[in-house]
Amino acid sequence: MSKIALAVHGGAGTILRSAMTPELEAEYRGGLEKGLRAGWEILERGGSALDAVEATTCSLEDFHLFNAGHGSVFTHEGKNEMDASIMDGSRLKAGAVAFVKNVRNPIKLARLVMDRTEHILLAGDGANRFARQMNVDFEDDAYFFTEHRYAQLLKAREEGVVELDHTAAETEQILDSEFQIPDSKTAEKKSEIWNLESGISSKGTVGAVACDSNGHLAAATSTGGMTNKKFGRIGDTPLIGAGTYADDVCAVSCTGHGEYFMLGVTAFDVAARMRYKELSAEDAARETIDHLTSIGGEGGLIAVDSKANVTMPFNCEGMYRGSVSADGQFHIEIYRD
Ligand code: ASP
Repeated sequence: MSKIALAVHGGAGTILRSAMTPELEAEYRGGLEKGLRAGWEILERGGSALDAVEATTCSLEDFHLFNAGHGSVFTHEGKNEMDASIMDGSRLKAGAVAFVKNVRNPIKLARLVMDRTEHILLAGDGANRFARQMNVDFEDDAYFFTEHRYAQLLKAREEGVVELDHTAAETEQILDSEFQIPDSKTAEKKSEIWNLESGISSKGTVGAVACDSNGHLAAATSTGGMTNKKFGRIGDTPLIGAGTYADDVCAVSCTGHGEYFMLGVTAFDVAARMRYKELSAEDAARETIDHLTSIGGEGGLIAVDSKANVTMPFNCEGMYRGSVSADGQFHIEIYRD
C-alpha cells in the first residue's frame, strides 16, 4: 500500500500580505481546507486519486472567492464562460470542457467527457448540450453573479482591458488591441506590469493533485479564465499537457497566465523532466517554473509523484495552496515567505 497525498491550489499571483485583511485570509484558508477535506476523506478510505481530485475541485468551484464555478470572472458581455479538465494518470485518460456556461461544476462535466465519450475536449454549445444530456446541475446567471467579480468587470471594461484574474488591469491593455500572444519584448513588459498587481484581487483558478493508496495519480483544474475576455478566449486550463497532466510519474495542475503555460506545455514539462532526466518531482517542477519565467510567464503549479511527494513552486508573490501529508496534517499557505 502506497502513501497517500493531496495538494490543492486556488490561484497564483501578486498576493500581498499587506493587502489582505485577517477576515479575508481566514475565508481563503477555510475554502482551501474544506476542499482538501473533501478529497482527503476519499483517499483515507481507500478511494481513488481521481475521485479525490474531482471532489476537491468541486468544493473549490462552489466557493465564492476562487475564480472557478460559482466565483468565476465575467466575460466582456457579462457572462461566465468556464474551462476545466481532469486526468487519470493510471489509465492515461483525460476529459475537458471549454467555454461552458451555467454548468454548476465544470469539473464534473470534464469527468463525464472522459468517462462517457470517446473524446477528450468538448467546447461551447456542444459541451453545454452534452451537459444537458448528462443531466448535470445547471445554475441560472444569478448563481454566478458575485459582487467582486462584477466590480472587476466594470473596471476592466471602463479601462478597455482584458484582465487576467491575477493581473493589474493595465497589463492586458497590451493584449486588448489585437488579442494575440505578445512578442518577447511585449511579454517582458507584460510580466513587469503584472508584478504591480494590487493584492487581494488575486483570486484564481483552482486545482488539485492526488496520489492514492495504489500509487495512482490524478490531476484536475478549473477556471473562469480572464475578466473581460472576448472572442472565445480559452486558456491553458482545459488543455491536457498545458494546464493539467497526470501519468504514472506525476500529476500536475497549473495556475497563472495561461498563454505562457500553453507555450511552455508546462504541466507535461514536469512529467517529461522527471521521466527523461530522472529528476525528483521537486527538481523537475522547479526547472519547469524556471523555464516558464524565462519565456515571460508568471504563475505556479502543484505536483505529486507516485511516492506521495508534493511540491508547489511558483514565481510570483503568492499562491493559495495547501496539502495534506501522509500523517493527516493539513498545511495551508498563501504567501511566498
Ligand atoms: N490559467 C488560467 C487561464 O489563463 C488563469 C489562472 O490560472 O488564474 O485561463
